[in-house]
Amino acid sequence: MQQIINNNILPDEQGFFGAYGGQFIPDELKEEFKRIEQAFYEAKDDDNFNRELNYLLKNYTGRPSPVYYAKNLSEKYGNNIYLKREDLNHTGAHKINHCLGEVLLAKRMGKTKVIAETGAGQHGVALATAAALLGLECDIFMGEVDIEKEKPNVNRMKILNANVIPVKSGSRTLKEAVDEAFIYYMDNYKDTLYAIGSVVGPHPFPMMVEYFQSIVGREAREQFMEQTDTLPDSIIACVGGGSNSIGLFGAFLNDEDVEIYGVEPLGRGEKQGENAASMTYGKDGILHGFKCKLLQDEKGNTLNAYSVASGLDYPGVGPKHCYLNDIKRVKYVTADDTEAINAFYELSRLEGIIPALESSHAVAYAIKLSKTQKNKNILVNLSGRGDKDIDFVLNNYKKI
Ligand SMILES: *Cc1c(COP(=O)(O)O)cnc(C)c1O
Repeated sequence: MQQIINNNILPDEQGFFGAYGGQFIPDELKEEFKRIEQAFYEAKDDDNFNRELNYLLKNYTGRPSPVYYAKNLSEKYGNNIYLKREDLNHTGAHKINHCLGEVLLAKRMGKTKVIAETGAGQHGVALATAAALLGLECDIFMGEVDIEKEKPNVNRMKILNANVIPVKSGSRTLKEAVDEAFIYYMDNYKDTLYAIGSVVGPHPFPMMVEYFQSIVGREAREQFMEQTDTLPDSIIACVGGGSNSIGLFGAFLNDEDVEIYGVEPLGRGEKQGENAASMTYGKDGILHGFKCKLLQDEKGNTLNAYSVASGLDYPGVGPKHCYLNDIKRVKYVTADDTEAINAFYELSRLEGIIPALESSHAVAYAIKLSKTQKNKNILVNLSGRGDKDIDFVLNNYKKI
């Protein structure tokens, strides 16, 4: 296989990173996934594809996103804390990076439609944005409960001309939305691409989404070196499915002296169903067509994941993260709801930057690290902005 990802840790022919990943899908779909993989390899070496993607990343999304030295936060906590500002991207987070890539790929394959599921609506909005821009139809499957909870994002998707399809089965949330999107996809893959929203799902999606996110780390490494003439001592990112984190980590995996931290949401605590820390509390299992560390009960049933940051409440985690954990290159740690909310206010009040609750987990860990080490250079991936979270935080966590 070609060397496509800058750190050179690639899945094997079957799509496994060590013991994790693979492609647990019906035989009927295997040929289609082979076509997707082939189209991806061709696209990433095609000048026209790259020209269009790079043009959009620069002039539509606003890349490169800056690396910013958070002076006030740094002074308060005794370390030099730098933020990679993915919150400044169009649509407010890193997800647009892979959505543009996936929709361009769908178009190149002659598809007329992209579909996805969404929980909080962030992936739905990013995908609907890319689909509107590039002229593809877009169906977003969303549980009825989530539709009720996430009105602003539902309205955004509608304005962007996506069909938001209410899912009425089971608990009427993310898991059922995935199930129904998959059923639809089985019947419609000829003209549709299922645009997965993180480095999860069957091969080749973890590899593809990582490729489209790897720009975050490449930019950040160069920007950091330019500003400081050195590499960071530590880099930190939050881990839901794992796309913003793997995007940052990739460029630093071969820098042995750089400590890498993936921060999982500890939610309300370590009890089953109270967190979404798949690496920390999960056991090997298969979910949504791939093998990973998975939150399960004693009988092997997948548990509902919980975090105050809905973008992090996924019971599994990307296969490459599971591998990086096995080989001990990345340390997977946690921050709970309270620490995340505290970091949300700290960054808002010290720097005038309101972070997404997801990203607040990464900031929280930088603060935590500062209790045991001083005068270090820490680079945090600020994966998204907090506009979507302000009502929720004010209604539930008043801090005046
Ligand atoms: C969706 C989301 C995440 C979690 O997804 P990953 O695939 O783990 O990156 C993190 N931060 C923000 C702002 C998000 O919208």
